[in-house]
Amino acid sequence: MLNSLKKAFSTQEEGTVNNGKKGDISRETSARLYEKAKQYFPGGVNSPVRAFKSVYGTPLFIERGDGCFIWDADGNQFIDFCCSWGPLILGHNHPKIREKVVKTMENGLSFGAPTRLENELAELILKNNKYLQKIRFVSSGTEAVMSAIRLARGYTRKDKIIKFEGCYHGHSDSLLVKAGSGLVTFGETSSAGVPRAFADETIVIPLNDQQAITEAFAQFSGQIAAVIIEGVPANNGLLLQDREYIHFLRTITRENEALLIFDEVITGFRLGFGGAAAYYEVQPDIVTYGKIIGGGMPVGAYGASDELMSHISPDGGVYQAGTLSGNPVAMAAGIAQLTELKNSGFYKSLHTKTDEFVAAIQRYATAKNYKCRIFSVGSIFWFAFTDKTSIKAAGDIDPSSMELYKVFHRELLNRGVYLGPSGYEVGFVSAAHSKMELEKTKRAVFESLDEVFRPNK
Ligand SMILES: *Cc1c(COP(=O)(O)O)cnc(C)c1O
Repeated sequence: MLNSLKKAFSTQEEGTVNNGKKGDISRETSARLYEKAKQYFPGGVNSPVRAFKSVYGTPLFIERGDGCFIWDADGNQFIDFCCSWGPLILGHNHPKIREKVVKTMENGLSFGAPTRLENELAELILKNNKYLQKIRFVSSGTEAVMSAIRLARGYTRKDKIIKFEGCYHGHSDSLLVKAGSGLVTFGETSSAGVPRAFADETIVIPLNDQQAITEAFAQFSGQIAAVIIEGVPANNGLLLQDREYIHFLRTITRENEALLIFDEVITGFRLGFGGAAAYYEVQPDIVTYGKIIGGGMPVGAYGASDELMSHISPDGGVYQAGTLSGNPVAMAAGIAQLTELKNSGFYKSLHTKTDEFVAAIQRYATAKNYKCRIFSVGSIFWFAFTDKTSIKAAGDIDPSSMELYKVFHRELLNRGVYLGPSGYEVGFVSAAHSKMELEKTKRAVFESLDEVFRPNK
């Protein structure tokens, strides 16, 4: 999403329908809807990456989803690996979620007063996650992270935060900041409209680099409220960190009386019920959630120890509120989804399935000598057109490799496989992707790779 943000602001020409290539699926209805949408929304969309600026053609308008499939407005069917950017770990239109949502809706949509459903979802999370004692529900990942940062600042009475180049944490002002020049610098805003003074409070450093963060703490001694990192950075490629580095972050933040925030908007309930905290066996000070927690409805959350959370209003002085926070219909979807995830063996089977899928594709690419690696953790995967065996920081990604992704993306769409419309985006396997569909996908991937690497194309 990080790079899609940049892409959406670039002046790249509008994608033309199909690029006129023979054998392309029909996107006529989608193209017509997109023309209309452009009259209503900036760039024709309500979130920039959806505009297909970094791949061929116009965005597909989706009519419906079921299991691992989606259908577009032209009637094309796809096996979907975007899964609404991660929330749909059970696939589309899961009967248990649908039924609970419909039943809840029959009692009204919103009350702005407490309901028992909030207790139920909180209990489900807190009883099964030893890293949190209290939680607060909000309505998006952005809101969760923004609130976590405010809590960190309010609690420590310090203003500066450290974030990493290549991590995305939603679109709040403090976090729309990218690295300046030099190893340890004040950030530069990555969006117009973010005040310079805000960017000055955010220090941006490279991932997986112990020296950089050591220098940052030395340079801004006594001023750092928190270090924020994605559980596993997965918004700018999949940047798998050394386990040792994550533990180092825990140590250095403690030494400097700064909080460690795990942004688990993707990894929460994805790597396992305990997210990245359990995966690394690290106790963060604050954890943020989004995506999976709402089962496809707009839900975010942040949680921490009783002690920290007692600083949130009305108990404490850190203000945070929401008209639709804890919305009953959204809570119902979250409860139904998380209940399924608790079934024994859920993650094991999802991860095994993904591992086999990824390994088969890597074997094919390697056998053919294609410059392509597929990185993965749990049920998250990322295609990188590189011969590097590991990519741990944003700077390790070659931007020119994205040209190959563009071709790959088009060829996969033509073969009924839907990936996110940018080479910086990861893909997700859901519980609804059966062996049969994964086999079909493998064949589509093999053929598409052959097209990408066909000589003299
Ligand atoms: C998606 C995402 C966000 C933002 O969540 P929204 O619901 O889109 O506001 C924040 N952090 C991470 C790690 C994300 O992947």
